[in-house]
Amino acid sequence: MSTYDYIVVGSGSGGAPVARRLLDAGADVVVVEAGRSTFGVPDIEDPASWFGLQSGAWDWGHQYQPTPRVLDRDISIPRGKGLGGSSATNAMMWYRGVPADYDRWDATAPGWGWDDCLPAFQACETWHGAASPTRGATGPMHITPPDPNHPLTQAMLDGGRDMGLPVNADPNGPEPLGVALANFNIAPDGKRWTSAQGYLEPVMDRLTVLTQTTATEVLFTGDRATGLRVFRNGTEQILTARKGVVLSAGALETPRILMLSGIGPEAELARHRLKCRVLAQGVGDNLQDHPLVRALNFRANRPLGPMKGNGGGTLTIWKSDDALAQADLLAFPVQGRSGVPALWDAYDLDGDVFAIGLGVMRSFSKGYVRLTGTAPDAPLEVQPNLLADPRDLKALMSGVEFLQDMVATQGFAPLFKDYAAPDTKVSGKDTETFVRRACSTFFHCVGTARMGADDDAPVTPRLAVRGTTGLWVADASVIPEIPACHTHAPVTMIGERAAQFILETI
Ligand SMILES: Cc1cc2nc3c(=O)[nH]c(=O)nc-3n(C[C@H](O)[C@H](O)[C@H](O)COP(=O)(O)OP(=O)(O)OC[C@H]3O[C@@H](n4cnc5c(N)ncnc54)[C@H](O)[C@@H]3O)c2cc1C
Repeated sequence: MSTYDYIVVGSGSGGAPVARRLLDAGADVVVVEAGRSTFGVPDIEDPASWFGLQSGAWDWGHQYQPTPRVLDRDISIPRGKGLGGSSATNAMMWYRGVPADYDRWDATAPGWGWDDCLPAFQACETWHGAASPTRGATGPMHITPPDPNHPLTQAMLDGGRDMGLPVNADPNGPEPLGVALANFNIAPDGKRWTSAQGYLEPVMDRLTVLTQTTATEVLFTGDRATGLRVFRNGTEQILTARKGVVLSAGALETPRILMLSGIGPEAELARHRLKCRVLAQGVGDNLQDHPLVRALNFRANRPLGPMKGNGGGTLTIWKSDDALAQADLLAFPVQGRSGVPALWDAYDLDGDVFAIGLGVMRSFSKGYVRLTGTAPDAPLEVQPNLLADPRDLKALMSGVEFLQDMVATQGFAPLFKDYAAPDTKVSGKDTETFVRRACSTFFHCVGTARMGADDDAPVTPRLAVRGTTGLWVADASVIPEIPACHTHAPVTMIGERAAQFILETI
């Protein structure tokens, strides 16, 4: 059978909830996923193995284009390829962001304020920590706090407090400023919990899931999306949809599919001799990510002991400038050394070393994703313009200096021996050079088919592709402005809401 009510492209953070909620409403749904099944794969289940999933079969292998701002370095931008998408390969941090993030969305995409989004956030999760009225108790995603018994976890809590930050009982509460135990999409048994496990696995007996099947083009009858061209088992096949198609292929692949379907900027379509079906100037624009300094490394005065969970454990959230309305910096510990290749080359990181990653979460630089060819597997040109906005650089420089001070507090005395990368305390130009050398991605690319009420937004606030019927986007592409948090939880929430909008439309 190749006709369904809905075709959902992608089984990740956005696709899995849409597919499940449409199915639960009685629809006949097929999920088309380019990657393989991830169920029961030991490296995916083991939280400590997440970093190794970034290269190889579970990843798309995309690269950010180099710029002088990051010293012309190649920076990979991993995206999960398999059931669960990036939720099956990510670092498992579950952080929903603050009301102000969503109230900013609401300004250009009405209906996306915090009060609109909170019920969907609650519907996503089963929170296993202390009861809270703002958390969910019965959702498909198991969310747990970490095992706090690691010397680095304790030092992060104590050092943050010594720097004057409050200790926060719930970073997913209304005010995340301070230092807190992080939340993870890790099940109570200690294994990673993916979107596919949460949303799809329980209904595999009534859901059609086509793995190793790549969507190449949405097919239309008039302006209505009625089908999908896919590549499966070495041949091209057509799937047809009675009610519509949902694109949840992520912020890099969704714009590709839109453009290959004739929906995109005039010049870009013309450059690749693609027939223009819908002029959508915004497709591929507005790419945002959180620049991440990966990472500050420090010499420990004793062995760190076995790794716990994902190798992190806490969140430190603070302001680079007290005058800011919202916290803009986030640091997380790494129970071992951590760095981009340029750091391994520049510093000695052997021995007992721990690291702290630093992200600017209220980031302002914007880039784009473009086609380099029309083959479905042609490399994409992805340019995030990391550090192009001087505010991002300034915030990270302030953060590096804050963290170098933090490890010198009493709270870190049981662990800190010396600086490793940078290998001395830095300031001014030296801090800037370190940031440029260590700047990488927080893995949070979003925004390439943004939703908005304005005509230039490719997607409406109800997630329909403007100029079409029966075609929706439900993934990180639709985010108009990157929230000051990790992006798995927000995209899961988007998936939940997408199904509501679709069901209300039909
Ligand atoms: C290494 C890494 C670490 C991260 N760490 C965190 C973290 O700790 N916390 C956090 O909140 N966020 C984290 N993120 C980001 C977060 O996981 C993503 O923002 C989020 O999962 C994106 O959801 P999505 O639905 O947009 O895309 P995805 O979850 O990536 O789903 C897209 C799916 O579509 C499939 N697909 C793509 N193209 C096609 C096609 N043509 N045909 C068929 N299928 C297709 C893909 O294979 C994939 O399964 C991380 C991401 C990565 C990669």
